[in-house]
Amino acid sequence: MEKLEQVLDRLVAGVQTALRGDGAAVRLLNGDGRHLVLGAASGLAAGREGTERVPLEGCPLDEEALAGAPVVVVDARDDKRAACVPEQCRAAVCVSLVHSGEPVGTLHVYGKKPGSFDEDDVASLVALGDLGAAAIASARAANAREKLEASKAHFVRVTTHELRSPVTVAQSLVRGVLKGYAGELSEKQMDVFTRVAGRLDHLENLVNDLLSLAAGRAPELAEKEGPVMLRASVGRAVLLFQPRADDKGVSLRQETCCEGLVIWGTEEGLDSVFSNLVSNAVKYTPSGGRVLVTMRATGDEVVVQVADTGIGIPAEAIPHLFEEFYRAPNAKAADEAGTGLGLAIVRDLVERYSGTIDVDSEEGKGSTFTVTLPIYRFDG
Ligand code: ADP
Repeated sequence: MEKLEQVLDRLVAGVQTALRGDGAAVRLLNGDGRHLVLGAASGLAAGREGTERVPLEGCPLDEEALAGAPVVVVDARDDKRAACVPEQCRAAVCVSLVHSGEPVGTLHVYGKKPGSFDEDDVASLVALGDLGAAAIASARAANAREKLEASKAHFVRVTTHELRSPVTVAQSLVRGVLKGYAGELSEKQMDVFTRVAGRLDHLENLVNDLLSLAAGRAPELAEKEGPVMLRASVGRAVLLFQPRADDKGVSLRQETCCEGLVIWGTEEGLDSVFSNLVSNAVKYTPSGGRVLVTMRATGDEVVVQVADTGIGIPAEAIPHLFEEFYRAPNAKAADEAGTGLGLAIVRDLVERYSGTIDVDSEEGKGSTFTVTLPIYRFDG
């Protein structure tokens, strides 16, 4: 979605070209509907229009256009309404910009020669004004949505962060009780506290995943990005889950290449991508199965694959895998704990680093997740 400034710049440039004018400008009504402020200007109008807010009464052309019909100035020298026509221009047309019945601003085209514009030009400016008003309204709506999303993300980050310490404290208290620090427990009490501990583990995973998700979407993350060694990140993920794989009786191996190969991202983010993928592969592969992590560079890209011989993914679940909180029915039935946030985190990060993620899977046979990332070259 184009930003408002881009929409306005394209609008004035388009108007000037289409009407063969010597300048064009768009002015926007501000919140009170009684003042105008320059949105964009081109040609002779650029630099001539002030950027300050001006009262509508000070702009007779705009005031008249906003009252209804297009206003045509044949020769600025003989027209009292032409106060704000650029100095070197003699002719002008001004139309109102209206979207869904609401006035948004005005659109102007200027010409050096008196009588530069005929009836067809006026009709064209009206049509361009209608398109422009719709584009301005949708850019503004997108802007408002972006702001709302940013404030929602901030809210999630702050609240989740606040949840983390009480969860950790509750977890350590319950573990203490289970170890007998608060006296001997009856079988029933032991059962209840064990279940509470399990729920708290889930809550901790959820809090951590929500924090990663919010962190991955935080705009300030871009400032921390830089060149990151890919092979080291893949290696760390494999190392992290080796004990879990060994415990489960799953063979976890890596065949990596390209020492020194670098991609553009953050170390934390890249570690999160591969840890999530390797963790899932180990988690959803029953005892006796295999997980293989491979890496290969092809031209400007590097491809990392995490393949397993696990439970696989039902075909109808594949389109939903990267949605937040989605878990396939066979994963739930496998009684493996999960939040359904890991792959949403992975996809956000991979896309942030201009990469792609694909999955190929067959239920009961296994899954292969393929991450493709552009290789970063220091010489550009
Ligand atoms: P979860 O916390 O449930 O593992 P993810 O977002 O990481 O959440 O994954 C979403 C869902 O994708 C999982 O619940 C599971 O259904 C499916 N999935 C992910 N990786 C695998 C895999 N390697 N094998 C089988 N299913 C997988």
